[in-house]
Amino acid sequence: MMKYVMKPGRIRVASILSMLLIILIPSQRVVFAQDLQPVGPIYIVQEGDTLWDIAQRFGVTLEDLARENSISDPAELSAGDELIIPGIEGVNDVLVTRKVPIGENLRSLSRRFKLPEKSIIRLNHITSPVELFNGYNLVVPASKQEGIPNERLAMASGQSLFELAINQDVNPWALATNNDLVGTWSAVPGDVLIIPDQESEDGPGGLPGEISSLDAGVGPLTQGKLSVIRLEATEELVAGGSLAGNPLNFFHNGDGEYIALQGIHALIEPGLHSLVLEGELKNGVPFSFSQMLLVSAGDYTYKSLQVPPETIDPANTKPEDEIWNALPKSITPVKMWEGVFQSPVAPSPCGFTDTFGHRRSYNGSPYNYFHTGLDFCYNYNNEVNEIYAPADGVVVFADSLVVRGNATLIDHGWGVYTGYMHQEEILVEVGEQVETGQVIGIVGQTGRVNGPHLHLEVWAGGVQVDPIDWLENPFP
Ligand SMILES: [Zn+2]
Repeated sequence: MMKYVMKPGRIRVASILSMLLIILIPSQRVVFAQDLQPVGPIYIVQEGDTLWDIAQRFGVTLEDLARENSISDPAELSAGDELIIPGIEGVNDVLVTRKVPIGENLRSLSRRFKLPEKSIIRLNHITSPVELFNGYNLVVPASKQEGIPNERLAMASGQSLFELAINQDVNPWALATNNDLVGTWSAVPGDVLIIPDQESEDGPGGLPGEISSLDAGVGPLTQGKLSVIRLEATEELVAGGSLAGNPLNFFHNGDGEYIALQGIHALIEPGLHSLVLEGELKNGVPFSFSQMLLVSAGDYTYKSLQVPPETIDPANTKPEDEIWNALPKSITPVKMWEGVFQSPVAPSPCGFTDTFGHRRSYNGSPYNYFHTGLDFCYNYNNEVNEIYAPADGVVVFADSLVVRGNATLIDHGWGVYTGYMHQEEILVEVGEQVETGQVIGIVGQTGRVNGPHLHLEVWAGGVQVDPIDWLENPFP
């Protein structure tokens, strides 16, 4: 391992030089070369890295980095080269990167890698713990590889570290040291501590051991898409929290699995948004965790439309929006659907006339609007175009509105709703239970429309999401 001074890219030169030293210098002088003080952490250049990237990443200037490593031409840099990172004292090791998974934060990573929080901050040149979002390429010294996972335990309210240590049969000072606490007094209730020398299954380090896994799907969350948050627990618990400011509603799916379905708003700013998980274990011990998650931009287009001004006048639209948008915020704890949603209209050659999510400007306004649903065409070959319930549910709204026309909203439970607009006729009543495939209305052109079509909305956790996903995938 490269621990001592050897100018990267100069290794061969250095080796030749030391051979020369051996040959040319009396033997006691050779010792000097091995006695050189460590000079700092070493970063192994990865495929695609530029010197500028590396300087940025470690918060050093390009000049300092080049000078320290005697690089005259940054283009000479190639993968596998070893660079000394100047200005970081106390770490004399090769640095490696690890992707931060969901369920970890500064505190848990510090405990996982047995590296003080301040060292993680310094090595990663972060200014705030929130920068350690899921997927972040965390830099850690290679010698601080993740150890065998230790038992994780949340501190109960009113419990002292001493009591916890006695209960767990560990030394309180070892407990404090292993958790990077300044003293045995500095742990707080809900804090997730690792218990030294008690091995455990690996799991989200920021959450107590009773939560064996946390999952939010693969890759970043996306504007206008559903996110499925899953907690697996070894015992019953109560979980809540929020995602990007929306309250999370967890439901027990059996087998220790807790699921929350939450839409990511189509117009949310792409970037980092917080996931907060909090709740209570069976023994009454609280837990609380937060981490930033990355939200990526959806692939949506922009459309500029001209409409009669009164149809976008807030005096007309606002009261209706308030009624409509408030309904899907009410959460029914029973899940009434199973598998993929059935198409709400019979298959037709004309398909969709408009997709979800594209940004809209009305009469030259900013692109503050988006298409909140999926439009199914009107099939003129049919005598009537029936609308079918895509899944079992309960009708919670069935009435005529100015913009939405004849509109129906069905509650499918767990915070999932489907909405139907511009209907010629509504064939269900509020409170009615509907079954998959049941005729609930007729496609029409009531409300703010250019022609007959069905506008289908799907809501999850009070936010509209892309209906096409529900017609193609079984959720959760
Ligand atoms: Zn539409």
